[in-house]
Amino acid sequence: MNTDKNITITNAWIVQISGQKIVPVFGDILISEGCISDIKEKDYKNLYTQPAKYFSNTINAGGRVVTVPMINFHDHFYSRLAKGLPLTGSMENFENILRNLWWKLDVVLDAEMIRASAQMAALESIRNGVTYIFDHHSSPKYANGSLETIADVLREFGLRGVLCFESTDRNGKQLAENGISENLNYLRNSTDNDFKAMFGLHASFTLNDDTLRRTSEVIKEYGLGIHIHLCEDKIDREESLKNFKNNPVDRLNHFGLLNDKSILAHGIHLTDEDYRSISNCGSAIVYNLDSNFNNAVGLPEILRTPLNVPILTGTDGMNSNPARTFKQLFLLARHQGMTFEQSLDWIKKVYFDELNFVQKYYPDFSSLKTKDRADLIIWDYIPPTPFMEENFWGHYIYGILDRPIHSVIQNGNILMNNFRMDFAESEYQQNIAAQGSRLYKNML
Ligand SMILES: [Zn+2]
Repeated sequence: MNTDKNITITNAWIVQISGQKIVPVFGDILISEGCISDIKEKDYKNLYTQPAKYFSNTINAGGRVVTVPMINFHDHFYSRLAKGLPLTGSMENFENILRNLWWKLDVVLDAEMIRASAQMAALESIRNGVTYIFDHHSSPKYANGSLETIADVLREFGLRGVLCFESTDRNGKQLAENGISENLNYLRNSTDNDFKAMFGLHASFTLNDDTLRRTSEVIKEYGLGIHIHLCEDKIDREESLKNFKNNPVDRLNHFGLLNDKSILAHGIHLTDEDYRSISNCGSAIVYNLDSNFNNAVGLPEILRTPLNVPILTGTDGMNSNPARTFKQLFLLARHQGMTFEQSLDWIKKVYFDELNFVQKYYPDFSSLKTKDRADLIIWDYIPPTPFMEENFWGHYIYGILDRPIHSVIQNGNILMNNFRMDFAESEYQQNIAAQGSRLYKNML
């Protein structure tokens, strides 16, 4: 990556965050040593005059919009190579999709395939302006060292990650043990300012009480949150009730696993009582609509979701584009009966829920103000009408979110400039294709 420590971004609409408010200002951003060293505000009518050159390394944003980077709160890097695979079993319901695709795939992954999957996900994430990723990893037969392999790749691309290994009892005692150990290995040996740990769990219906009890001890000792699938499909509640005589939310609560650093992916089939428990614990729900459509498991009922439950956006490994999830959430809110005003207010709530939640892991997350970390993305969007606090969410939903990313800067390093990645993409692509072929053969 380009490591010139002095960069200027000129002629940008800078979407600053002030408390729970968005304040766009127009001007030039000066970046030095990983931080925003100064912001020179200027009149928008000066856009077409020759931009001032503060540092020789300059990106002219040309009136485009600059925001903080996107965050993917629920990804599965391990699924990235799963394109065009030969599938033999039924894919007719959620359980069969798990059994005949994901649980066949994750047991054949090895170090090389995990590395290639992470490379593919990292490249796609940068293209989509995502530089903070909460990944939920599964490779039951290659657990030891798998999270460090993913962290290595993210480090190579200059990204930040909150990683965990998906513990489960579905593959027997020894592999369950390996999963728990990998969560522990990683959090003890590999976390730092850029890499954080959660405790990964698959879902209530594939976890026995003993594993949940042990998880509870670890998260108390290390102050961790859990990252788990919750009520994605009806099966989670049905099987939990049948096998463990308790519903998933009460089970997790019983073992003290729900806290304000925990992520509950999907949360579709929840009762009002479940929502009350979740809001009391402060855990966040991550919506992943592409995945819900694809698996036909149902959709979140937005009008029933209490405002005091933090809502975040993810992709569930379907792609690397949480902006797409944001847009779909707005459309779903409209479809389910919210007015335009309510839907925009709801998207604003989700936006700030995300900023509040990510700061639990990264207190230095940027607000795009002077002295902040220089993490920012330039969207290929030039507002056609005045751009201000009052109409920002209209621009966000109908303009910004539908546009590609022009440039990405993370910690003052340019990862992508004017649509050009600052990495030897073709070399990565060769490795990705080679490992993808190996996976394909293993799935035959
Ligand atoms: Zn998932």
